[in-house]
Amino acid sequence: MDFEDKVVLVTGGASGIGAATSKRFAEEGATVIVSDIADERGDEVVSEIEAMDGDAAFAELDVTDAKAFQSVVDATVEEHGRLDVLCNNAGVPGPRKDIGEISDEEVNHVFDVNIKGVWNGCRAAVPLMKEQGSGTIVNTASVGGLRGYSPLVPYATSKAAVVNLTRSLAGRLGPEGIRVNAVCPAHVHTPMFEDFLQDFENPEAMREQGERAHVLNRLGQPEEVASCIAFLASDEASFVTGTAFNVDGGYETVME
Ligand code: NAD
Repeated sequence: MDFEDKVVLVTGGASGIGAATSKRFAEEGATVIVSDIADERGDEVVSEIEAMDGDAAFAELDVTDAKAFQSVVDATVEEHGRLDVLCNNAGVPGPRKDIGEISDEEVNHVFDVNIKGVWNGCRAAVPLMKEQGSGTIVNTASVGGLRGYSPLVPYATSKAAVVNLTRSLAGRLGPEGIRVNAVCPAHVHTPMFEDFLQDFENPEAMREQGERAHVLNRLGQPEEVASCIAFLASDEASFVTGTAFNVDGGYETVME
């Protein structure tokens, strides 16, 4: 994969899959804008990239803020001349509760970050990519958006929306040469997954159950998702668009 002279913007880049994705693009030669609401961890990711002679900068961004997203995209283009890849990766798990116990604020937050955040990113980047005549978008969905996921109902609902936004937008942008894809991870060993486990009475039993749910009998690693995101964004995937690409150790596709 060759990302020399390419400019990549990653949301939720300060942690987990987003941090691994930012580092992977930098390793492949890209200039990476690491964006997140968490500025200290974002700065750390940038420092780690710089320590390996990569090119990165941090941009503080709450993806629910459409104007702020537009400003980050505009500033990226002003500074670096272009935007080749947008990774809409920021996400929150939302509440693990029965529907009657979930407040409007809680459900709105999940939908705002996980759906509107992706929407805001596409809305900001697509006109610019059209103008450039090139560009590609990779959204981080989830296997929970392909099948239902009963522990996290608003989350699974939001990720299904991301899958369908990906497919619908791909159809519209294909003729313009802009590819749009999604990755669908299962359980990946990140801070989000660790927090999720702590919500159960016996986190270790849940971890083992989570591991066994994958045909490969283990959790995914953020780097394994990052490599699929980089592949989908690369010219190696030049004939791939509109896909919801499983990165799930067989979780969704094989019933045992
Ligand atoms: P993580 O919690 O480690 O990282 C998520 C990052 O998103 C954090 O740095 C957080 O600060 C940032 N973020 C949260 N709200 C934001 C906002 N409003 N604006 C900007 N940034 C915001 O989680 P992760 O596991 O790396 O998750 C990354 C993506 O992968 C998410 O979309 C998540 O839903 C998806 N995913 C994760 C798993 C898993 O098992 N870890 C499985 C499937 C899908």
